[in-house]
Amino acid sequence: MLTVENIDARTVSITFDGYRTCYVVRDRKTVLVDCGYPSDHPGLLAGLDRLGLDPGSIDYLALTHIHLDHAGGAGCLTRLNPELIVCVHGRGSRHLVDPARLLHAAARVYGERFAAIGAMLPVPEGNLKTIDSGDTIELGASHLEVHYTPGHAKHHVIFHDPFAAAVFTGDALGLKIADQPNFILTPPSDYDKCQSVDSINRIEALKPKRINFAHCGTYCLNPRERIFEDLKQAHEQWTRCVTAILNETPGIETQAMWKLFLKQQPYLQRYPDRHASFLLSVRGIRTYIESK
Ligand SMILES: [Zn+2]
Repeated sequence: MLTVENIDARTVSITFDGYRTCYVVRDRKTVLVDCGYPSDHPGLLAGLDRLGLDPGSIDYLALTHIHLDHAGGAGCLTRLNPELIVCVHGRGSRHLVDPARLLHAAARVYGERFAAIGAMLPVPEGNLKTIDSGDTIELGASHLEVHYTPGHAKHHVIFHDPFAAAVFTGDALGLKIADQPNFILTPPSDYDKCQSVDSINRIEALKPKRINFAHCGTYCLNPRERIFEDLKQAHEQWTRCVTAILNETPGIETQAMWKLFLKQQPYLQRYPDRHASFLLSVRGIRTYIESK
């Protein structure tokens, strides 16, 4: 299912399957933040069409990171718009030009769900613009600021829209689905707890009023909320829990570790539809602990 929603005068969200959200910000130039799986490409075109846009009207594709649910459709877009400037952190750019390693890693993480993601096309090197903290994407009267936010992935950035006091956070602040709590996303193989917490602090210091989550949709911050504090605590608590399980039972099999984790974090049992994501996060935390 496709949802297209106005966020503010310049920003529109396009959401696929109620779970993956891309954003279009329109000024004199137009930027698309993230673009979903390759299999989301027809939905993205339909979403752009509802806005009176086509791939040729997009000036920049700004990628928070190169995981397939954020960047998988980039090559499809550059085929339709050879002028498209694809902005991505330097540590991820070569994997868009040659996605073989990215696809190999994704096949391991996704397992049997991998086939449904669709074929990821390479992005021509000439379309890429590497970005880092301090860079801006100029849109005309307004711009997006780039902030490097590793932790979820080594090549993760967020985009700050000072004009709207909004941040496009990719996976750096986890996922926030409708009436459910905000959960962290710590998949293999790049997860780093200390970097994740530093990145949350960096985003908090921007004092955003609105968080544009990639999973999923926009969220207005209530000044009384402790969203940043709660996320940092979750990183500490989940890492502590997995560490304790591994200390108790070194070499424990993944499913057994997951069952123990769920038993020790009983509040997670209330969200069975999120369990695939939690399991991935527990695997990522294990990889982080075992590689230290
Ligand atoms: Zn990700």
